[in-house]
Amino acid sequence: MRFESIASGSSGNCIYVGSDRTHLLMDVGISRKRTGQALHDIGLDFKDIDGIFLTHEHSDHIMGLPVIAKYSQMPIYATKGTIRALARMPKYRDIDPDRFICIRADEPVSVGDLKIDPMTISHDAAEPVGYRVYEGSKKACICTDLGCYTDYTQACLQDSDVLLLESNHDINMLQVGHYPYSLKQRILGNRGHLSNAASGQLLSRVLNSHLKGIFLGHLSKENNIPELAFETVRVELMFSEAGYRAEELPIRVAERDVPSGLVEL
Ligand SMILES: [Zn+2]
Ligand SMILES: [Zn+2]
Repeated sequence: MRFESIASGSSGNCIYVGSDRTHLLMDVGISRKRTGQALHDIGLDFKDIDGIFLTHEHSDHIMGLPVIAKYSQMPIYATKGTIRALARMPKYRDIDPDRFICIRADEPVSVGDLKIDPMTISHDAAEPVGYRVYEGSKKACICTDLGCYTDYTQACLQDSDVLLLESNHDINMLQVGHYPYSLKQRILGNRGHLSNAASGQLLSRVLNSHLKGIFLGHLSKENNIPELAFETVRVELMFSEAGYRAEELPIRVAERDVPSGLVEL
């Protein structure tokens, strides 16, 4: 199994997950050109992509979709709520409805030799999901855009080999920052985004000895700094009872504009 964060953050999200013969994109929140360049750099082309899985209808996850869908024929997997939301949005409602395959949380679908199991997340979109992707015994998880986590979230992320987890904001930076009060409340709310501290707490509960990559993702441009996200998560891990030393874990920040490079499992 191979995994790459192509772009991550409030300005655009796109992830590649694949095996030797199956290739998927999870969200296409950057331009077709940038997505194509990243695929080219790992020896792939849009015609190799077997499907696009969407997490939800916010523009930082779908911005590239209309143009990519226009020039390539791969199916688009999304929940009923996401598909309905797209059908009401200019630019997206012109995508042929036949292109969509409806998925539901906790009902795995197979594409080639990969199995994709959507998971429910708490976020202010129609029917948002994260993803668990399996190739045999290998497991990759993508879990961003969630205001809070539950025992269910924790159970979903258990036993991953690679994990992309949201570490959206530093609570203090957000609180003293210039965002209007209502937006601050939205981000901090249960259907908003996960803070660095909450990300570290959730991570401490899902660590295992075979994790090959831990990506802190979907960082806010205004309310976070990569070093701060990294340090806050490290401190949370240090004070947790997980028994792992943060410096021994493969933790990295998934960069906004630079692909992470392939993690091979
Ligand atoms: Zn969102
Ligand atoms: Zn987002």
